[in-house]
Amino acid sequence: MKIAVAGTGYVGLVAGVCFAEKGHNVTCVDIDEKKVQQLKDGHSPIYEAGLEELMIQNYNEGRINYTVNYADAYKDADAIFIGVGTPEQPDGSANLSFISTVARQIAESVEKNCLVVVKSTVPVGTNDKVEQFIHDFLVNNVRVEVASNPEFLAQGSAVHDTLHAERIIIGTESKWAESILQDIYKPFNIPIVSVNRKSAEMIKYASNDFLALKISYMNDIANLCELVGADIQDVAKGMSYDERIGSKFLNAGIGYGGSCFPKDTKALDYLAKQNGYELKTVQATIDVNKEQKTLLYKKSSRRLITFNGLKVAVLGLTFKPGTDDLREAASLENVPLLLEQGADIYAYDPVGAPNFERIYPEGKNLNGSITYVSDVQEALKNANVCFIFTEWGDIKEITPLMYKELMQTPLVYDGRNIYAVEDMEKVQVEYHSVGRRSVERSILKEAIDNELQTIES
Ligand code: NAD
Repeated sequence: MKIAVAGTGYVGLVAGVCFAEKGHNVTCVDIDEKKVQQLKDGHSPIYEAGLEELMIQNYNEGRINYTVNYADAYKDADAIFIGVGTPEQPDGSANLSFISTVARQIAESVEKNCLVVVKSTVPVGTNDKVEQFIHDFLVNNVRVEVASNPEFLAQGSAVHDTLHAERIIIGTESKWAESILQDIYKPFNIPIVSVNRKSAEMIKYASNDFLALKISYMNDIANLCELVGADIQDVAKGMSYDERIGSKFLNAGIGYGGSCFPKDTKALDYLAKQNGYELKTVQATIDVNKEQKTLLYKKSSRRLITFNGLKVAVLGLTFKPGTDDLREAASLENVPLLLEQGADIYAYDPVGAPNFERIYPEGKNLNGSITYVSDVQEALKNANVCFIFTEWGDIKEITPLMYKELMQTPLVYDGRNIYAVEDMEKVQVEYHSVGRRSVERSILKEAIDNELQTIES
């Protein structure tokens, strides 16, 4: 089938490459000329495991192409997938201007019957409006219908998630549209759930917001665990045996980030309000997450007089491992607070550092400074405080003893609960994590005093 994809971001590019991998003839369209050139040169503008290899292979075999010339790509496509951004607006609603631009471009370009498929996450009812909009501006006398096909991939495992998805949701209003999507997805051999357009749009928000709710719920419980002396990891383990709860998304931490959960929770809350309904569970999800993002900073500010003149190791900048995406990352909330307090930050991230450096250039910044280093140990060397924001593999490889040996004052704030509390205690690292007991300086001091007394006697 001849497929065009509008937008070569995480969703559009991965979808385009996977459609080509499954034998379709794909043209990816983007307005960003630099990106398109990069793609033509065989380089992925985003970091996703396995993506570049598949791009090159399918390009060499003639199944995928890239262009800024949308008219050429859309005019004779059987299906046009829209994967452009729907970012958050100041009032929490989704910005649909990129979608409407593509819809207009499609209306002016198509020369044969085609199915327009909205992959972007859009508020319920948007597909109806996109269809109407295209019909309003349609130049040629052809049949154009709109279908919803929300995307569920997770950044960091986007290619795998697309090729091995648990389900494909298609929302259509006619047998014609449904059969085109069934044909496109047949080679994927993945269960297809076929519903109407509005239900498909809602499935996406309801799924994402449920996952965000699960995260906020566990973080809320984690905060209470700290106050009452329970351990969130033991609690999560105990909960996970219940199949009704499931074992995933039970890790406590410093909140969710990324390009989806934050905006999709706000957009659904906005949609509910617009319809005169208070979506209280989603509102609570948003509130808990906001507080959780700066939990480590708040804890450390209670412990230290100042960050001024302290060497602060920041481990991990991206919103999660496996991606170079910084959108809504905890690092973006905490780093400016630390800089304002005069911290000299040494930041490490295996792939996200260049993107972060564009926002916070190396050197003096606010009242402190920021330096980007190429390995974890360099960040930790002679540091006074360490913050772990992302659980990248090479950060997890750092042993508790290395914190003790490398840091000037081993004080660690771990937002991802990487280490066992006992292991940090054993090597006398002051350690604060989420929802578990802390290894306080007072405990360590006692342990050291006891050790000294034993030696003396
Ligand atoms: P992105 O910002 O990474 O990419 C969007 C791309 O669209 C950009 O390259 C931009 O240049 C391009 N674009 C803008 N206008 C265009 C036009 N008129 N024609 C062609 N290209 C155009 O966005 P993303 O992260 O891929 O997300 C896209 C949509 O998918 C959003 O609605 C998002 O909520 C949803 N989604 C994202 C993810 C994710 O993990 N990123 C997962 C599921 C769903």
